[in-house]
Amino acid sequence: MFIIIGNKHFTHYRGRTRDEFTCPHCGRDFRFVLNTVSSWFTFTFVPIFPYRFRRTLECPYCKTQLKIDGATYDALLKNRTREKIRKI
Ligand SMILES: [Zn+2]
Repeated sequence: MFIIIGNKHFTHYRGRTRDEFTCPHCGRDFRFVLNTVSSWFTFTFVPIFPYRFRRTLECPYCKTQLKIDGATYDALLKNRTREKIRKI
């Protein structure tokens, strides 16, 4: 009998920042994407319970994820736009 356990990450789109930031990876100016990422424990590929939540800023060009603290994320979340993500 095999017991298959693992984890899975779900990314939730929360909007885009109203101001532009310079990406530290690609060096371009963009309005970054606000995401929350939840990590789930899985049993036989079925998500059972979440064990971690992270708040990230994502560069829409190179997809670099930047970790930010909660206060900064909340401030950006209050001043966001909810437009759809446009593929570049
Ligand atoms: Zn970038």
